[in-house]
Amino acid sequence: MCGKLYVVATPIGNLADFSHRAVEILKQVDLIAAEDTRHVMRLLQHYGISNRLISLHQHNEEKASPELLDKIKNGLTVALVSDAGTPLLSDPGMPLVKLARQQNIEVSPVPGACALIAALSVSGLATTQFRFEGFSPRTSSARKNFFLSKKNETVTWAFYESSHRILASLEDLSEIVPGDRQIVIARELTKLHETIVKDSLAKILQQVRNNIYMRKGEFVVLVEGHVIEKKPHSITEEQTRVLTILLKQCSIKTAVALATEITGARKKLIYQAALELNKILLTLKNTL
Ligand code: SAM
Repeated sequence: MCGKLYVVATPIGNLADFSHRAVEILKQVDLIAAEDTRHVMRLLQHYGISNRLISLHQHNEEKASPELLDKIKNGLTVALVSDAGTPLLSDPGMPLVKLARQQNIEVSPVPGACALIAALSVSGLATTQFRFEGFSPRTSSARKNFFLSKKNETVTWAFYESSHRILASLEDLSEIVPGDRQIVIARELTKLHETIVKDSLAKILQQVRNNIYMRKGEFVVLVEGHVIEKKPHSITEEQTRVLTILLKQCSIKTAVALATEITGARKKLIYQAALELNKILLTLKNTL
């Protein structure tokens, strides 16, 4: 009889964010596969869970996953947890889940905290669509290339950042993305020093430069999507009214120049409208 794999989210700071169901599952399974067994012990002790633990992290998961799946196929139920939040989200677990799916092993989520989703939910930025980029690259040149590739992204985009690189990362971002772009920094979510700031990139960079505490802890950075300015394809009613009056009094050239100056509309649009209006005016004149 085949067992089952549970993918269990753990808290990202506040231990009280662990779900009742997650506690029950971790008590019931035969085995807990954890990114860092010592780290997860603190959580297990807090909730009075004593269960068998094995290690599954980015350095052993390619080898350990098939072995673990054999155990599941032989009937064991296994829970996968990472150090914080939802496994596989910038965390180990992908080889295990992928193989389990390929081998038709039941994989069931036990959802909970995720720094990305928590940050997004309080950001005030558009959430209908968004892009998650994982951790930003480590070196400045790779980061700048990455930011360049995101410069014209039209939806909210987010990346994870560490305390070691948050300042350098924002400095690099400000070289690529205009300083007036809205960004959100979500720091130490659900923890004692939780800080969520939303402002222009230029102002947030200033804050992070000036305040050492703004460089401590764990970060999610969210960047507003690039807003494509919609250029009008036709002139407004008011612009048409002004242009019509002028066309009745002056040549097309003068009317276009004056209407452009008076209304502030794009000359090309005024000119196109003038040609059409002039035709109508001529027809009207001939019919009178
Ligand atoms: N799987 C996790 C999740 O569901 O969010 C993320 C794991 S990833 C290895 C760790 C990164 O997530 C941190 O470096 C930080 O960028 C972000 N992160 C985790 N906890 C956070 C928190 N409490 N506040 C802000 N960011 C956090």
